[in-house]
Amino acid sequence: MAGMAAKPLAAAAIAQLESDGVATLIGTVVNPAGLIHAKTIPLRRMGSFADPGLGASPVWHVFAIDQAGIVFSAATGVVGDQRIRIDLGALRILGDGLAWAPGDFFSQDGAPDPFCTRGALRRVEDRLAGAGLDAVVGHEIEFVLVGPDGSALPSHLWAQYGLAGVLEFEGFVRDVTAAATASGVAIEQFHPEYGANQFEISLAPQKPVAAADHVTLMRIIIGRVARKYGVRVSLSPVPFAGSVGSGAHQHFSLTRDEVPVFSGGDGPAGMTEEGAAAVAGVLAGLADAQGVLSGSILSGLRMQPGSWAGAYACWGTENREAAVRFLTAGPANPHGANVEVKIIDPSANPYLASAAILGLAIGGIERGLSLPAEVTVDPSSLSEAQRAEAGITVLGTDQTATLDALDGSALLRGILGDPVVDAVVGVRRYEQETYGGLSADELAEKFRLAWSV
Ligand code: GLU
Ligand code: MG
Repeated sequence: MAGMAAKPLAAAAIAQLESDGVATLIGTVVNPAGLIHAKTIPLRRMGSFADPGLGASPVWHVFAIDQAGIVFSAATGVVGDQRIRIDLGALRILGDGLAWAPGDFFSQDGAPDPFCTRGALRRVEDRLAGAGLDAVVGHEIEFVLVGPDGSALPSHLWAQYGLAGVLEFEGFVRDVTAAATASGVAIEQFHPEYGANQFEISLAPQKPVAAADHVTLMRIIIGRVARKYGVRVSLSPVPFAGSVGSGAHQHFSLTRDEVPVFSGGDGPAGMTEEGAAAVAGVLAGLADAQGVLSGSILSGLRMQPGSWAGAYACWGTENREAAVRFLTAGPANPHGANVEVKIIDPSANPYLASAAILGLAIGGIERGLSLPAEVTVDPSSLSEAQRAEAGITVLGTDQTATLDALDGSALLRGILGDPVVDAVVGVRRYEQETYGGLSADELAEKFRLAWSV
């Protein structure tokens, strides 16, 4: 029945898209290594891409970042085929005859696939709803513009957050903004960052799955516009060794019955008791979740104190060295109080990163965790003894240990499910085992364009 009802709807939608000039539809999925995979179809086939979907081997979940590697396992092997179904409700027009929609994985009999990363985030969204909570997530996208072969571009005029960056890349900035507006992506701000030829785009908060969808959409947009100007977008956490890294920070806020839990309370920094427990949950689970949030072979190189990547496992109001930065409500903060998780980097799958942090937040609430005192100074300014006394640890940079922690984490397995955790651990261990012997320079060079589209 649903299929029969869908057909006339699809026909009307196709006619509408045709009149908007769309001829080709791109459907994407994001895998546990953070790679975006795609299939395209002519517009008339749109209905079939939505249901029953297009075929894809289960090995899509375990493609590695080196353009070749596959981490085979019993569940991700050469036998079997799945279906990617695009979500027509999330379709956006890209221009030049193209439209895009995000996809989910299903089995051939229509059951949700436990490896599907978008599905994992939807399950957490459902868990939140079941607990009477609503979440929104706001993504930050940092990236470095490089040559088509990954080479560094000149940066003689560049200054940190400097106007010269806007003018050097004026066409890029203008066209990305225009394309985002045309595709219905809400950019909050777009500015040159600290590193040479590094930019940041912040996206408006949205419900978690939609917010993560828009990270892919934004990557498509910046990738397309960059090509027009003869450059490419590096989404590596460390595009150039020894230089500034790129983060993919996520901000989230929670409401219960439309009442914020991170403001209006009598807890720390104005949080409600529930809000404080949610932050405590994130903080307590950071080390377990690090393999999901920043688990690639380059992520450890970024996780250094003094680089605003949140290398210290602690929280603090507007503290940029804290892994969990808290932003209070107030007239200067139109979206209200929210929690920023800084350790996430662009090698992470954005669906899984959101699923992990929101899952940890619910866990904190369910377990009634209490929040340690906030850190109001740069933790680097404290002595080791002072940090130990305040319970502040430096997050690990040994990715092998980070992956072992994730592998052994009942907490993260409970949030994401065993298949997802096994796939993340599998593709990341492959990176360590295959390329662990390379120097920082060699790694940065080799994987500078690994996540680019
Ligand atoms: N580029 C920094 C990072 O790697 C973040 C800078 C900022 O706070 O915006 O996370
Ligand atoms: Mg930034």
